[in-house]
Amino acid sequence: MVTLDRAQKSFGGVPVLRDISLSVASGEVVAIIGPSGGGKSTLLRCLTLLERLDAGDLSYGEVEVSRSGSYADKATLARARERFGLVFQNYNLFPHFSVLRNVMDAPVCVQKRGRAQAEADARALLDKMGLSGCEEKVPCQLSGGQQQRASIARALAMNPQVMFFDEPTSALDPELTAEVLRVIKNLAAEDMTMVIVTHEMSFAREVADRVVFMDGGVIVEEGLATQVIEHPREARTQAFLAQRE
Ligand code: ATP
Ligand code: MG
Repeated sequence: MVTLDRAQKSFGGVPVLRDISLSVASGEVVAIIGPSGGGKSTLLRCLTLLERLDAGDLSYGEVEVSRSGSYADKATLARARERFGLVFQNYNLFPHFSVLRNVMDAPVCVQKRGRAQAEADARALLDKMGLSGCEEKVPCQLSGGQQQRASIARALAMNPQVMFFDEPTSALDPELTAEVLRVIKNLAAEDMTMVIVTHEMSFAREVADRVVFMDGGVIVEEGLATQVIEHPREARTQAFLAQRE
């Protein structure tokens, strides 16, 4: 589904990703954990083509995005972009569009789907996210948790093969966090392929097939969620988890 090999990225000569290899298989849920500044968001930004790698190979299935840091043409990158959806910490909905329009805008305007079908799909997705009744509201009329669920619906409306989440709940109060984590768990139960950067260890343990611990721009340790979180092998992983208890 997604393959990253020997990725490197520096900002102003300072290495932030130092040789990262990561493959995500179809249906797999990977949680990325680690201390602040470890490179998690940079990794996600490189995977989602918001930043370019300095070196390394990246591909989405047969679509080759980067080979040794040399990027494919625009049309190929556009094909790769159709494969994934992205949800950030700060739900980035269009503030002046209704919730419904936020969700159906890209399917209609970018994918050129019929309006009636796009609307029906958007309403079904909003219902699945627990947002029926919110279709005509604008984002500021929703709670943070509702806005984040609307952002997830908007990403899913493009039928991505893989979803990336960067700390989807870190801007939310605990009770709103729970409802967002619940919809992500439901997606995992439906075998959605996902890569989730999170500070929620119990969530990571529950939802992820695999946990990747990143620090200082490298993958220090990765393995089954139960192994990495409950029985970390590496001293740096142990120290990070101990400090979060
Ligand atoms: P957090 O848990 O706080 O979100 P993170 O693991 O996501 O941290 P990154 O945001 O990837 O960490 O940042 C890794 C390092 O790269 C940090 O030292 C950061 O200052 C630096 N960095 C990230 N983006 C840029 C940029 N656009 N320009 C310069 N430095 C950057
Ligand atoms: Mg980050």
